[in-house]
Amino acid sequence: MGKHVGLSLILIFLLFFLPWLWGESHASGQPEPPAEDPPPAEDIPEDPPQTPSGTDRSISLNILVDGQLRQTNMADYLLGVVRAEMPASFELEALKAQAVAARTFVLYRMAGGGTANHPEADACGDITCCQAYKSYEDAAQDWGEAAAEYEAKIRQAVEDTDGMCVLYEGKPLLAAFHAASSQTTQDAAAVWSSSLPYLQSVETPENEETVPNYHSSASFTASELKSRLQTALPEANLSGSPSDWFTNIQQQPGGTVTSLAVGGVPVTGGQLRSILELRSACFTISFAEDTVTFSVTGYGHGVGMSQYGANVLAAGGMDYREILTWYYTGAAVEPYTPVSVSNE
Ligand SMILES: [Zn+2]
Repeated sequence: MGKHVGLSLILIFLLFFLPWLWGESHASGQPEPPAEDPPPAEDIPEDPPQTPSGTDRSISLNILVDGQLRQTNMADYLLGVVRAEMPASFELEALKAQAVAARTFVLYRMAGGGTANHPEADACGDITCCQAYKSYEDAAQDWGEAAAEYEAKIRQAVEDTDGMCVLYEGKPLLAAFHAASSQTTQDAAAVWSSSLPYLQSVETPENEETVPNYHSSASFTASELKSRLQTALPEANLSGSPSDWFTNIQQQPGGTVTSLAVGGVPVTGGQLRSILELRSACFTISFAEDTVTFSVTGYGHGVGMSQYGANVLAAGGMDYREILTWYYTGAAVEPYTPVSVSNE
């Protein structure tokens, strides 16, 4: 796979994968230790904790958060990512899987020479570029009374997986993840038109009982819909009734739309999802008078690890390594130390 394609892939999937948008992060914030009692939001301890030394702590990272560049290490960076990327109420083994996926993402990026978006930083907190990042202070505001318990879980998820990485043929892989799918995840080839051997469609167990807002809908008036479609797809012929606009819809058994034609222009389900800002490409379309409604299942691009699926698998007794190898076909979860790090 060319570097070009790799970078495009990263950009594309990062545009869609973040399930939990978060508020501002604090560039100067260091993670705080869990206290005996949850600290009130206005009284958060100042001194960062000392966590055990290990592989993560030996990997220096420059991160760009909230417009500020600062030096940290993999251990502290991952705390910020896991806080932002997965609900802390999830099973511990799911949080561990998330920590390993996040670690793998950075190491994959670093192995590829970083990004032109910020050559001075190994990672940023912009979800359209890298991974979300949340300081303890911001997370604690959201967590309220559960702050100490949740921070301790996340800390354990990162520390217990110190140095562990998802490898394919001995190298960190592109650890794509998303919130929730319908029955199966998606083959990268179907979503990004570029195949990766470890990003294939696999079964995933989440459903409406285990995912909040699993079913959603988006309604448009005919003129609103026409305007959005015509802007994105100028070649589309959108004359006549909206019920004639969408043809040749190809769906997987779980309902995910792989391809269709919009006014005669072929697009992928993911492209239509982006144009209309649907929560996923798993949708059906219904027409009533002047209204067109998309009924949507799941959330995210559907490629790689499903986070809600990981939580269901963890609740069923799988450990984080089993979860990761469930979602990343043919991968191995092993300790990995990049050759070029440990730069003081
Ligand atoms: Zn970035």
